[in-house]
Amino acid sequence: MQRHVHATVGPDYARAVATPRSHFTGQGKPMSTYKAGCMCGAVQLEITGDPAVQAFCHCSSCRGWLSAPIHAAALWPATSVKVTKGADNLGLYKKTENSHRQFCRSCGAAVLVGHPGMGMVDVPAGSVAGLSYKPTLHVHYGEKVMAVKDGLPKFKDFPKEFGGSGDMLAE
Ligand SMILES: [Zn+2]
Ligand SMILES: [Zn+2]
Repeated sequence: MQRHVHATVGPDYARAVATPRSHFTGQGKPMSTYKAGCMCGAVQLEITGDPAVQAFCHCSSCRGWLSAPIHAAALWPATSVKVTKGADNLGLYKKTENSHRQFCRSCGAAVLVGHPGMGMVDVPAGSVAGLSYKPTLHVHYGEKVMAVKDGLPKFKDFPKEFGGSGDMLAE
């Protein structure tokens, strides 16, 4: 698990952990919070905790949505992601009911993707301030337009535990 750590020591540390960006859980362990949002700042998110899943998605829908060869997905439980500003400025596009893609109506940035079936929300990793992105797998590699030789597992579609075939592909 990746933790967000403030680059402060001594007295500053106490002040740092008292800020909304970081707080202690009942266990005395620091829990990360992240800020995300669109390019123009009209829409802002606050995310609690570290992503449950970090994965590169190669599917044609994500590529079309972002106009990018690969989508760097970071998924949190839906309850961990709050829209703190500009909820009424979010547009919604659903190619399928599996993915509720939301974007800023002002700047067009991709803000989040709701996956109601999984109870998860994907916030594109590039928009999450301070997140040290560490993907652990590739999904929908069967639809790839760009090979990535990083040694991570490559799923043809999805792992079985996420409702996929679990089939693996070579890099
Ligand atoms: Zn915007
Ligand atoms: Zn995708």
